[in-house]
Amino acid sequence: MRVFKFGGASVKDADSIRNLSAILKDQKAKGEDLIVVISAMGKMTNALEILLSAYLENSDKVEALFETIKNFHLDIMNQLFQGDHEVFEKVSNHLVEIEWILEEEASRERDYYYGQMVSIGEILSTTIVGSFLKEEDHLVEWLDARGLVRTENQYRSAKVDWTASEGLIRDQIPKDNGKKDTIYVTQGFIGGTSENFTTTLGREGSDFSAAIFASVLDAEEVVIWKDVEGMYNADPNVFPNTIKLNHISFHEAIELAYYGASVIHPKTIKPLQNKSIPLYVKSFLQPDRKGTIIDNDVTSDNIIPSFILKPAQTLVSIAAKDFSFIVESHLKEIFNAFDDHKLTINLMQNSAISFSVCLDALPELYVLINELSVNYKVSFNEDLSLLTIRHYNDEVIEELLKDKKLLLEQKTRTTARFVFRENT
Ligand code: ASP
Ligand code: MG
Repeated sequence: MRVFKFGGASVKDADSIRNLSAILKDQKAKGEDLIVVISAMGKMTNALEILLSAYLENSDKVEALFETIKNFHLDIMNQLFQGDHEVFEKVSNHLVEIEWILEEEASRERDYYYGQMVSIGEILSTTIVGSFLKEEDHLVEWLDARGLVRTENQYRSAKVDWTASEGLIRDQIPKDNGKKDTIYVTQGFIGGTSENFTTTLGREGSDFSAAIFASVLDAEEVVIWKDVEGMYNADPNVFPNTIKLNHISFHEAIELAYYGASVIHPKTIKPLQNKSIPLYVKSFLQPDRKGTIIDNDVTSDNIIPSFILKPAQTLVSIAAKDFSFIVESHLKEIFNAFDDHKLTINLMQNSAISFSVCLDALPELYVLINELSVNYKVSFNEDLSLLTIRHYNDEVIEELLKDKKLLLEQKTRTTARFVFRENT
């Protein structure tokens, strides 16, 4: 059994869905069962989030926003199916789940509605793609991930209940059911609680869904199909002359994801590493290219330096008002304040009299700075960038920091990190 994951860009229009079907015809071995995990089409998750905000704010745009979402899917279906195809009714039944919410006045928190509404993007995409694959003579079984991936009761970034999910998934997808050649089509990103509430695994969480199915079913491999040829040593939109990484280890992939590389959802790697299930990142535009292999083998990890740039950073420096030493009791108070505001620290460093942290410039950060200013002397620098270089060497550092004003630097044997300002 293998698991394929197709993201939003791979199902963004009718032609993309035809391409997906062609990939399955080409890549699925005869007799093989395959799990196909699919995201919402194109930017539909964003569109649903915007619809939800409009609904909660009682905006007069609600109707128009919902129409746009409906028409987007209808337009794709019209290109893929005849008018009397059963998919039209299925899709309209799923859309009713949103209509029900919109008809009632919003009386609860955003989080309560989030899962119920935003999950429909994945339900619609898998309904449409599943029906099209059937038309194309694939043997398809559509599965509702809300009844397979069991989570706790948080509506966003919900924590997975692995034991319960294992039972549910193994029940509905037997490891070897003798049925063979079945394509199990299911949704990424979504799950459900024991009380049948819909939850989500965090934005871009479909990769993680694929890893959950693979881990539970002891899959041979996972393939994430993307619009790029694999993982690169840096974001090609930011750095010139990027190089494709043919092979990296799970460990390296976790490190890159931690420092902010956004190719794979960070939670994806651990379950695969635990079961030694290799992960391939491949291009749905060039499916025959090799892509990137991520597995246990560490031999090629340090061959090519990798770069991760986080823009829009603020460097905050916290000192005691009387310039006495920053001691553990201060740090305890400071860390608690960060935790209370759910702020993620990207980098930290302490000296005798101050403690410095680099963070994304979020609105909550400025609330925190005000709070800390009661007991501490707090100063900050804005509009900075944080550059992380894995497997650095002197030449790449010199090249990348040329003309930059350096504010802070940190090095370990494998990783160098710099907080800087563009010299303009
Ligand atoms: N559709 C969801 C999102 O856009 C999940 C995913 O694409 O992985 O965040
Ligand atoms: Mg998506």
